[in-house]
Amino acid sequence: MPLKAIQEQPHACEFIRRALLSDRLHHAYLFTGPGGVGKTLSAKALAQALLCTQPTETADACDQCNACVRVASLQHADLHVIERNQKKDGGRERNIKIAQVRELQRSLTFKAFEGDRRVVLLLDAECMTPPTANALLKTLEEPGKGTYFILVSDAPHRLLPTIISRCQRVRFSPLSPDFIADRLVSTTDLSSEDATCLSRLAEGSLGRAMDLIEDEVLDARSELLERLGGAGTEAPNLSDTMSFASDLARPDRRDFLPTVFHLLRSWHRDILALQGGMEPSELVNSEYKEQLSKRASTLSQSEVFDRLERLNQAETAIFERMGNVRLVLEALFVRITDQLAQSGGHR
Ligand SMILES: [Zn+2]
Repeated sequence: MPLKAIQEQPHACEFIRRALLSDRLHHAYLFTGPGGVGKTLSAKALAQALLCTQPTETADACDQCNACVRVASLQHADLHVIERNQKKDGGRERNIKIAQVRELQRSLTFKAFEGDRRVVLLLDAECMTPPTANALLKTLEEPGKGTYFILVSDAPHRLLPTIISRCQRVRFSPLSPDFIADRLVSTTDLSSEDATCLSRLAEGSLGRAMDLIEDEVLDARSELLERLGGAGTEAPNLSDTMSFASDLARPDRRDFLPTVFHLLRSWHRDILALQGGMEPSELVNSEYKEQLSKRASTLSQSEVFDRLERLNQAETAIFERMGNVRLVLEALFVRITDQLAQSGGHR
Protein backbone atom coordinates (compact mmCIF):
# COMPACT_ATOMS: atom_id res chain seq x y z
CA MET A 1 0.00 0.00 0.00
CA PRO A 2 1.49 3.36 -0.95
CA LEU A 3 1.88 6.03 1.73
CA LYS A 4 -0.69 8.27 0.09
CA ALA A 5 -3.36 5.58 0.56
CA ILE A 6 -2.93 5.40 4.33
CA GLN A 7 -5.74 7.40 5.83
CA GLU A 8 -5.11 6.60 9.47
CA GLN A 9 -2.15 8.89 10.02
CA PRO A 10 -2.10 11.92 7.71
CA HIS A 11 0.50 13.83 9.74
CA ALA A 12 3.00 11.02 10.19
CA CYS A 13 2.64 9.90 6.56
CA GLU A 14 2.99 13.44 5.25
CA PHE A 15 6.17 13.82 7.25
CA ILE A 16 7.59 10.64 5.70
CA ARG A 17 6.46 11.56 2.19
CA ARG A 18 8.19 14.91 2.45
CA ALA A 19 11.41 13.27 3.53
CA LEU A 20 11.17 10.85 0.60
CA LEU A 21 10.45 13.59 -1.90
CA SER A 22 13.23 15.86 -0.74
CA ASP A 23 15.59 12.88 -0.71
CA ARG A 24 16.58 13.78 2.83
CA LEU A 25 15.79 10.49 4.42
CA HIS A 26 17.26 9.64 7.75
CA HIS A 27 18.96 6.25 7.77
CA ALA A 28 16.97 5.10 10.81
CA TYR A 29 13.41 5.84 11.78
CA LEU A 30 11.56 4.96 14.94
CA PHE A 31 7.79 4.81 14.56
CA THR A 32 6.12 5.09 17.97
CA GLY A 33 2.53 5.24 19.18
CA PRO A 34 -0.20 2.98 20.53
CA GLY A 35 -0.74 -0.48 19.03
CA GLY A 36 -3.14 -0.82 16.12
CA VAL A 37 -2.94 2.74 14.78
CA GLY A 38 -1.08 2.10 11.52
CA LYS A 39 2.62 2.11 12.43
CA THR A 40 3.50 -1.21 10.83
CA LEU A 41 1.31 -0.45 7.82
CA SER A 42 3.18 2.84 7.35
CA ALA A 43 6.55 1.18 7.89
CA LYS A 44 5.76 -1.32 5.13
CA ALA A 45 4.61 1.53 2.90
CA LEU A 46 7.90 3.34 3.45
CA ALA A 47 9.82 0.13 2.69
CA GLN A 48 7.77 -0.23 -0.48
CA ALA A 49 8.52 3.36 -1.52
CA LEU A 50 12.23 2.80 -0.92
CA LEU A 51 12.43 -0.43 -2.90
CA CYS A 52 9.91 0.37 -5.68
CA THR A 53 11.47 0.27 -9.16
CA GLN A 54 8.95 2.71 -10.67
CA PRO A 55 8.26 5.28 -7.94
CA THR A 56 5.66 7.97 -8.57
CA GLU A 57 6.53 11.65 -9.07
CA THR A 58 6.05 12.11 -5.35
CA ALA A 59 8.59 9.35 -4.64
CA ASP A 60 5.82 7.11 -3.31
CA ALA A 61 5.52 3.42 -4.21
CA CYS A 62 3.75 2.58 -7.48
CA ASP A 63 2.15 -0.43 -5.76
CA GLN A 64 2.23 -2.32 -9.09
CA CYS A 65 5.80 -3.27 -9.90
CA ASN A 66 7.27 -6.60 -9.04
CA ALA A 67 9.30 -5.10 -6.18
CA CYS A 68 6.20 -3.51 -4.65
CA VAL A 69 4.31 -6.78 -4.80
CA ARG A 70 7.14 -8.64 -3.09
CA VAL A 71 7.52 -6.01 -0.38
CA ALA A 72 3.79 -6.21 0.30
CA SER A 73 4.09 -9.95 0.89
CA LEU A 74 7.39 -9.49 2.76
CA GLN A 75 9.21 -11.58 0.15
CA HIS A 76 11.67 -9.00 -1.20
CA ALA A 77 15.30 -10.09 -0.85
CA ASP A 78 16.40 -6.60 0.21
CA LEU A 79 13.75 -6.28 2.87
CA HIS A 80 14.90 -7.74 6.18
CA VAL A 81 12.14 -8.19 8.72
CA ILE A 82 13.18 -8.75 12.32
CA GLU A 83 10.45 -9.66 14.76
CA ARG A 84 9.88 -11.97 17.68
CA ASN A 85 9.84 -15.58 16.50
CA GLN A 86 6.58 -17.43 16.42
CA LYS A 87 6.07 -20.12 19.03
CA LYS A 88 4.40 -23.50 18.47
CA ASP A 89 1.18 -22.34 20.14
CA GLY A 90 0.89 -19.46 17.67
CA GLY A 91 2.02 -16.77 20.11
CA ARG A 92 5.29 -14.89 19.88
CA GLU A 93 8.50 -15.30 21.85
CA ARG A 94 8.99 -12.75 24.59
CA ASN A 95 12.14 -11.25 23.08
CA ILE A 96 13.91 -10.69 19.80
CA LYS A 97 16.95 -12.93 19.92
CA ILE A 98 20.50 -11.68 19.70
CA ALA A 99 21.12 -14.37 17.06
CA GLN A 100 18.55 -12.67 14.83
CA VAL A 101 20.47 -9.41 15.04
CA ARG A 102 23.77 -11.21 14.34
CA GLU A 103 22.24 -12.93 11.32
CA LEU A 104 21.01 -9.56 10.05
CA GLN A 105 24.46 -8.07 10.46
CA ARG A 106 25.94 -10.95 8.52
CA SER A 107 23.56 -10.46 5.61
CA LEU A 108 24.18 -6.71 5.62
CA THR A 109 27.85 -7.31 4.93
CA PHE A 110 26.89 -8.40 1.40
CA LYS A 111 25.71 -6.05 -1.32
CA ALA A 112 22.02 -5.44 -1.89
CA PHE A 113 20.58 -8.13 -4.18
CA GLU A 114 18.52 -6.04 -6.56
CA GLY A 115 19.07 -2.30 -6.39
CA ASP A 116 21.24 -0.07 -4.28
CA ARG A 117 18.89 0.07 -1.33
CA ARG A 118 17.79 -2.26 1.39
CA VAL A 119 15.44 -1.89 4.29
CA VAL A 120 15.45 -3.38 7.76
CA LEU A 121 12.04 -3.48 9.38
CA LEU A 122 12.29 -4.15 13.12
CA LEU A 123 8.91 -4.79 14.73
CA ASP A 124 8.24 -4.60 18.50
CA ALA A 125 11.65 -3.01 18.88
CA GLU A 126 11.14 -2.73 22.65
CA CYS A 127 11.39 -6.53 22.83
CA MET A 128 15.17 -6.37 22.44
CA THR A 129 17.03 -7.14 25.67
CA PRO A 130 19.87 -4.71 26.41
CA PRO A 131 22.54 -7.09 24.99
CA THR A 132 20.52 -7.50 21.78
CA ALA A 133 19.94 -3.76 21.51
CA ASN A 134 23.64 -3.12 22.09
CA ALA A 135 24.50 -5.60 19.37
CA LEU A 136 22.24 -3.69 16.99
CA LEU A 137 23.63 -0.33 18.00
CA LYS A 138 26.80 -0.58 15.97
CA THR A 139 24.87 -1.32 12.78
CA LEU A 140 22.44 1.51 13.54
CA GLU A 141 25.38 3.89 13.87
CA GLU A 142 27.03 2.85 10.62
CA PRO A 143 24.39 1.18 8.54
CA GLY A 144 26.23 1.42 5.24
CA LYS A 145 25.10 3.37 2.20
CA GLY A 146 21.57 2.69 1.01
CA THR A 147 20.54 0.79 4.15
CA TYR A 148 17.49 2.10 5.98
CA PHE A 149 16.20 1.01 9.34
CA ILE A 150 12.57 1.34 10.40
CA LEU A 151 12.01 0.45 14.03
CA VAL A 152 8.43 0.12 15.23
CA SER A 153 7.45 0.27 18.90
CA ASP A 154 4.31 0.58 21.05
CA ALA A 155 6.45 1.04 24.15
CA PRO A 156 9.44 3.26 23.30
CA HIS A 157 10.06 3.92 27.01
CA ARG A 158 11.43 0.37 27.13
CA LEU A 159 14.04 1.08 24.46
CA LEU A 160 17.63 1.94 25.33
CA PRO A 161 18.15 5.71 25.08
CA THR A 162 21.13 5.03 22.82
CA ILE A 163 18.82 3.31 20.31
CA ILE A 164 16.30 6.17 20.42
CA SER A 165 18.99 8.78 19.91
CA ARG A 166 20.23 7.08 16.72
CA CYS A 167 16.79 7.24 15.12
CA GLN A 168 14.53 9.94 13.78
CA ARG A 169 11.32 9.53 15.72
CA VAL A 170 7.92 9.66 14.02
CA ARG A 171 4.96 9.80 16.39
CA PHE A 172 1.67 8.10 15.53
CA SER A 173 -1.39 9.25 17.42
CA PRO A 174 -4.48 7.35 18.61
CA LEU A 175 -7.25 7.30 16.02
CA SER A 176 -10.49 9.17 16.55
CA PRO A 177 -13.54 7.08 17.52
CA ASP A 178 -15.32 8.43 14.40
CA PHE A 179 -12.54 7.17 12.14
CA ILE A 180 -12.64 3.74 13.80
CA ALA A 181 -16.43 3.56 13.63
CA ASP A 182 -16.45 4.49 9.90
CA ARG A 183 -13.81 1.88 9.18
CA LEU A 184 -15.72 -0.78 11.09
CA VAL A 185 -18.92 -0.02 9.23
CA SER A 186 -17.17 -0.19 5.85
CA THR A 187 -15.13 -3.33 6.51
CA THR A 188 -17.34 -5.47 8.75
CA ASP A 189 -21.02 -6.29 8.97
CA LEU A 190 -21.48 -4.41 12.25
CA SER A 191 -24.40 -2.02 12.57
CA SER A 192 -23.41 1.60 12.95
CA GLU A 193 -24.70 1.52 16.52
CA ASP A 194 -22.44 -1.39 17.47
CA ALA A 195 -19.54 0.17 15.53
CA THR A 196 -19.88 3.40 17.52
CA CYS A 197 -19.96 1.45 20.72
CA LEU A 198 -16.86 -0.59 19.82
CA SER A 199 -14.99 2.46 18.56
CA ARG A 200 -15.27 3.97 22.03
CA LEU A 201 -14.11 0.81 23.75
CA ALA A 202 -11.13 0.56 21.37
CA GLU A 203 -9.35 3.57 22.89
CA GLY A 204 -8.03 4.94 19.61
CA SER A 205 -6.74 1.65 18.20
CA LEU A 206 -8.21 0.03 15.11
CA GLY A 207 -6.23 -3.11 15.92
CA ARG A 208 -7.85 -3.28 19.32
CA ALA A 209 -11.29 -2.70 17.79
CA MET A 210 -10.70 -5.74 15.55
CA ASP A 211 -9.58 -7.81 18.54
CA LEU A 212 -12.67 -6.73 20.42
CA ILE A 213 -14.89 -7.88 17.56
CA GLU A 214 -13.13 -11.22 17.57
CA ASP A 215 -13.70 -11.47 21.32
CA GLU A 216 -17.39 -10.66 20.77
CA VAL A 217 -16.91 -7.94 23.27
CA LEU A 218 -20.43 -6.56 23.28
CA ASP A 219 -21.82 -9.95 24.29
CA ALA A 220 -19.01 -10.29 26.77
CA ARG A 221 -19.91 -6.96 28.30
CA SER A 222 -23.52 -8.00 28.82
CA GLU A 223 -22.39 -11.24 30.45
CA LEU A 224 -19.89 -9.48 32.64
CA LEU A 225 -22.27 -6.80 33.84
CA GLU A 226 -25.04 -9.25 34.43
CA ARG A 227 -22.90 -11.66 36.38
CA LEU A 228 -21.18 -8.98 38.42
CA GLY A 229 -24.35 -7.07 39.04
CA GLY A 230 -23.28 -3.94 37.19
CA ALA A 231 -26.21 -3.93 34.82
CA GLY A 232 -28.93 -4.77 37.28
CA THR A 233 -30.11 -3.28 40.50
CA GLU A 234 -29.46 -6.41 42.54
CA ALA A 235 -25.98 -7.33 43.64
CA PRO A 236 -25.23 -10.94 42.67
CA ASN A 237 -24.90 -13.50 45.43
CA LEU A 238 -21.52 -14.78 46.47
CA SER A 239 -21.80 -18.23 44.91
CA ASP A 240 -22.67 -16.75 41.50
CA THR A 241 -19.63 -14.51 41.72
CA MET A 242 -17.40 -17.45 42.65
CA SER A 243 -18.70 -19.59 39.83
CA PHE A 244 -18.13 -16.73 37.38
CA ALA A 245 -14.52 -16.44 38.57
CA SER A 246 -13.92 -20.15 38.07
CA ASP A 247 -15.60 -20.02 34.62
CA LEU A 248 -13.18 -17.31 33.56
CA ALA A 249 -10.21 -19.20 34.96
CA ARG A 250 -10.80 -22.13 32.59
CA PRO A 251 -7.89 -22.54 30.16
CA ASP A 252 -10.20 -22.13 27.14
CA ARG A 253 -11.34 -18.72 28.40
CA ARG A 254 -7.88 -17.51 29.24
CA ASP A 255 -7.56 -15.39 26.07
CA PHE A 256 -10.69 -13.59 27.11
CA LEU A 257 -9.20 -12.24 30.36
CA PRO A 258 -7.57 -9.10 28.88
CA THR A 259 -11.01 -8.17 27.55
CA VAL A 260 -12.54 -8.66 31.01
CA PHE A 261 -10.04 -6.23 32.50
CA HIS A 262 -10.47 -3.82 29.65
CA LEU A 263 -14.24 -3.78 30.11
CA LEU A 264 -14.15 -3.46 33.88
CA ARG A 265 -11.71 -0.60 33.59
CA SER A 266 -13.79 1.26 31.02
CA TRP A 267 -16.85 0.76 33.24
CA HIS A 268 -15.16 2.33 36.25
CA ARG A 269 -13.63 5.12 34.22
CA ASP A 270 -17.11 5.96 33.01
CA ILE A 271 -18.30 6.20 36.62
CA LEU A 272 -15.44 8.60 37.36
CA ALA A 273 -16.25 10.60 34.23
CA LEU A 274 -19.86 10.97 35.33
CA GLN A 275 -18.76 12.04 38.79
CA GLY A 276 -16.56 14.60 37.06
CA GLY A 277 -19.55 15.97 35.17
CA MET A 278 -19.25 14.29 31.75
CA GLU A 279 -22.37 14.12 29.60
CA PRO A 280 -23.84 10.57 29.73
CA SER A 281 -23.99 10.45 25.91
CA GLU A 282 -20.18 10.76 25.75
CA LEU A 283 -19.47 7.77 27.96
CA VAL A 284 -17.68 4.76 26.51
CA ASN A 285 -20.52 2.57 27.74
CA SER A 286 -23.22 5.14 27.01
CA GLU A 287 -25.89 2.46 26.44
CA TYR A 288 -25.67 1.73 30.16
CA LYS A 289 -25.91 5.33 31.24
CA GLU A 290 -28.69 4.71 33.75
CA GLN A 291 -26.82 1.96 35.57
CA LEU A 292 -23.64 4.01 35.45
CA SER A 293 -25.40 7.08 36.83
CA LYS A 294 -26.72 5.03 39.69
CA ARG A 295 -23.20 3.80 40.49
CA ALA A 296 -21.82 7.31 40.17
CA SER A 297 -24.25 8.53 42.80
CA THR A 298 -23.86 5.62 45.23
CA LEU A 299 -20.08 5.09 45.11
CA SER A 300 -17.67 7.69 46.37
CA GLN A 301 -14.87 8.78 44.09
CA SER A 302 -12.29 7.19 46.35
CA GLU A 303 -14.18 3.88 46.22
CA VAL A 304 -14.02 3.96 42.42
CA PHE A 305 -10.30 4.76 42.50
CA ASP A 306 -9.84 1.90 44.94
CA ARG A 307 -11.60 -0.48 42.56
CA LEU A 308 -9.46 0.68 39.63
CA GLU A 309 -6.36 0.12 41.71
CA ARG A 310 -7.55 -3.39 42.58
CA LEU A 311 -8.11 -4.09 38.91
CA ASN A 312 -4.53 -3.07 38.15
CA GLN A 313 -3.21 -5.24 40.97
CA ALA A 314 -5.22 -8.25 39.83
CA GLU A 315 -4.04 -7.79 36.26
CA THR A 316 -0.42 -7.59 37.36
CA ALA A 317 -0.87 -10.65 39.57
CA ILE A 318 -2.26 -12.69 36.67
CA PHE A 319 -0.21 -11.55 33.71
CA GLU A 320 3.10 -10.60 35.24
CA ARG A 321 3.38 -12.69 38.36
CA MET A 322 1.52 -15.68 36.90
CA GLY A 323 -0.72 -15.88 39.96
CA ASN A 324 -3.59 -18.34 40.32
CA VAL A 325 -6.25 -16.93 38.00
CA ARG A 326 -9.25 -18.25 39.88
CA LEU A 327 -8.07 -17.04 43.30
CA VAL A 328 -7.11 -13.60 41.99
CA LEU A 329 -10.44 -13.16 40.20
CA GLU A 330 -12.42 -14.40 43.22
CA ALA A 331 -10.73 -11.86 45.46
CA LEU A 332 -11.28 -9.10 42.91
CA PHE A 333 -14.93 -9.90 42.21
CA VAL A 334 -15.81 -10.26 45.87
CA ARG A 335 -14.32 -6.87 46.49
CA ILE A 336 -16.19 -5.30 43.60
CA THR A 337 -19.53 -6.94 44.31
CA ASP A 338 -19.21 -6.34 48.05
CA GLN A 339 -19.08 -2.71 47.29
CA LEU A 340 -21.98 -3.04 44.88
CA ALA A 341 -23.96 -4.80 47.59
CA GLN A 342 -23.17 -2.09 50.10
CA SER A 343 -24.06 0.69 47.72
CA GLY A 344 -27.19 -1.09 46.49
CA GLY A 345 -28.37 -2.21 49.91
CA HIS A 346 -27.58 0.47 52.42
CA ARG A 347 -27.73 3.80 50.65
ZN1 LIG B 1 6.57 -0.19 -7.33
